[in-house]
Amino acid sequence: MEILLVGVDYPSPLGEFEEWFATDADCLDYLEWLRWPAGFTCRKCGGGGWRLGDGRWMCSRCSYRTSVTAGTIFHRTRMPLTVWFRACWLFATAKNGVSALALQRTMEIGSYQTAWMILLHRFRSLLSQPGRRPLSGTVEVDETFIGGYEAGLAGGRARGKKVLVGIAVEVNEPRGFGRCRMGVLDDASAASVQQFVSTFVAPGSTVITDGWPSYRGIKEWGYVHEPRSQRAAASRGEDPGGLLPGVHRVAALTKRWLLGTHQGAVSPEHLDSYLDEFVFRFNRRTSHHQGLLFHSLLTLTVGHRPVEYREVAVGHQRRKEPPTPPITPGYPGKSERRRTVRPWRQGIKIHNSA
Ligand SMILES: [Zn+2]
Repeated sequence: MEILLVGVDYPSPLGEFEEWFATDADCLDYLEWLRWPAGFTCRKCGGGGWRLGDGRWMCSRCSYRTSVTAGTIFHRTRMPLTVWFRACWLFATAKNGVSALALQRTMEIGSYQTAWMILLHRFRSLLSQPGRRPLSGTVEVDETFIGGYEAGLAGGRARGKKVLVGIAVEVNEPRGFGRCRMGVLDDASAASVQQFVSTFVAPGSTVITDGWPSYRGIKEWGYVHEPRSQRAAASRGEDPGGLLPGVHRVAALTKRWLLGTHQGAVSPEHLDSYLDEFVFRFNRRTSHHQGLLFHSLLTLTVGHRPVEYREVAVGHQRRKEPPTPPITPGYPGKSERRRTVRPWRQGIKIHNSA
């Protein structure tokens, strides 16, 4: 597991970004460091290698040539890496995310509107990578309709444009909520909710639902079921809407985010990727270092293992041992290169086998 340090592994929000990523070469070096923390490693044979004049790397064993951006969202882009990085930084550090319009205005590059749309879509698509740790412990699950914000469709009859969304939220003891997951559902049938629950909630967890019949078989799916009846709550004089406070809170925040940041301009076919972005931000809401999201996005970009945020350490801690630069056989040596601020090359990631 890795411990990430602000000011070493990712920039602090206080002006470090500009200092670190002044040139495309700096950006490239950062991506290479994320992709090959111990120096270039050949994808084909695992050998080391050296950098070619055009910025690519060549394997010293099998002569395979590649670059850190090959096959990533940066592949064959016409936009300078400094612009990509700046956009990624804005996307990451805006607390509620950015719309394409806001990004375009901030970057003051009018003619790139389409590019920004693609760019935001690409960042968003990174956030839906599978393989994340499923929710566990006690988890509230429910479905709700989201969307239908198009102008002129306000009111109950907008329902045709709405999309049914499954929501799962971890319940913390004694209070508060943990992580959440959301996904578009075809319908509220037992098959649909079973697929949703088994995708996002670890078997053995306690699942709290309302009395909807589709959840009746949940014990057979490998979970402990805690159904809460709205009718029973009402007869006890309790508020039936308070039965599943976690999912209702997440649903309300999602709707507010779609209307606020994105002015409700989210088409049903793209809703899934917006939900992924919301979930990604929600699950990192307690992190005070927005630079982490920047690091995480770029890490996902170059295909490295995503980092779990609970492993993160805070502060400008340094290793006691002197830094060892990632030298690979045949590497031409760093002395000819421009002296730059590259703190990520000074700090060394702390690994353990946990
Ligand atoms: Zn090779």
